[in-house]
Amino acid sequence: MNITDLRFQDPDKAREYLEAQRWPDGPVCPHCGNCDQDKITGLRGKAHRPGVYQCNECREQFTVTVGSIMERSKIPLNKWLLAMHLLGASKKGMSAHQLHRMLGITYQSAWFLCHRIREAMKPTNPSPLGGGSKVIESDETFIGGKAKNRAYAKKEPKKQAVMTLVERNGESRSFHVANVKAKTLREKIVTTVSRKSHLMTDELASYEKVGKEFANHGTVNHSADEYARLGGFVHVNTAECRFSLMKRAVYGTHRYLAEWDFKWNTRKINDGERAALIAKGIEGKRLMYRAADRTANA
Ligand SMILES: [Zn+2]
Repeated sequence: MNITDLRFQDPDKAREYLEAQRWPDGPVCPHCGNCDQDKITGLRGKAHRPGVYQCNECREQFTVTVGSIMERSKIPLNKWLLAMHLLGASKKGMSAHQLHRMLGITYQSAWFLCHRIREAMKPTNPSPLGGGSKVIESDETFIGGKAKNRAYAKKEPKKQAVMTLVERNGESRSFHVANVKAKTLREKIVTTVSRKSHLMTDELASYEKVGKEFANHGTVNHSADEYARLGGFVHVNTAECRFSLMKRAVYGTHRYLAEWDFKWNTRKINDGERAALIAKGIEGKRLMYRAADRTANA
C-alpha cells in the first residue's frame, strides 16, 4: 500500500473509502438502523458538507463517522486513515510522539487518535480461545520499569504484570494484572479460554489449581533442556517469544496490549488488509473509548 494514495491526502477521498468499508451495500442509518436505500437521501448542495445523509425513516441526518471512534473529531479523515495505516503497519508500535510529527497534528490530538484507533483494534465480540484438542499457552511477565526507554520519565516507573494467553497457531489475548496470584490468573484464564483445551504453563504455583479445571495441564520450567520435553509439545515458547518482542517495542513501555494482540492476530494478512480491518472496527466503539480514556488517565 502506498501512503501517497489519495485517501491519505484528501479528506473527501478518505470519506469515500470509509463509506465503502463501513457500508459495502450502501449507507445504513446509525440512528434507527434503516438500510433501505430508497429511504436514504444523500444531501448535496452548498448548505451541506459532503457525506451527509438524510434518513427518511427517522428523519435524522448522519455521516459515516456517526457512532464511530471518529465522531466529532476535528482531525481530517485522511489523517485518521494515515494514522490507522501507520499504527497497523508498524512492527514495533508507534508512539503518540511519532504520530504527532508524522501527521503534523498536536501531541494531544495524536494521543487521542492513538487511543481511539487501539479501541478499533479490539475484537468486538471475542470468542473463547481454545477448545477440544487445542493448546493454550499461558505465560506472565513484568514490563516497564526502565526509565531510559521513556521520553520524559522523571522517576523509575513501576513494573507491571502482564499475562498473555495464546492459542497455538491461533489468536492471543493479553491483560494487565494486579499480581500473578492464583485467584487473579484463574479469573482471566477461565473467562477467556475453553476448559476443553490443553493448558500449558510454567511451573508457577498459581497455575496448579486452575490447571485441574482443564482437559489437560502441562507445565514447563524455564530451563532450556525442558523445552524439548514430550517431543516439543509441552512448551510456552509462543508466549515467551511474544513477550520478548513486546519488551523491544513501545508496547512494553506504554500500555498498548490491544494493539499488541491485534498485530499478532492479524499477522498473516498484509498492511492494507490490516488497515481496512481497523477501518471496519471503528463502529460502536465510541462509548468504549471514553471508558478506556478514563482507565488510561487513572
Ligand atoms: Zn434513521
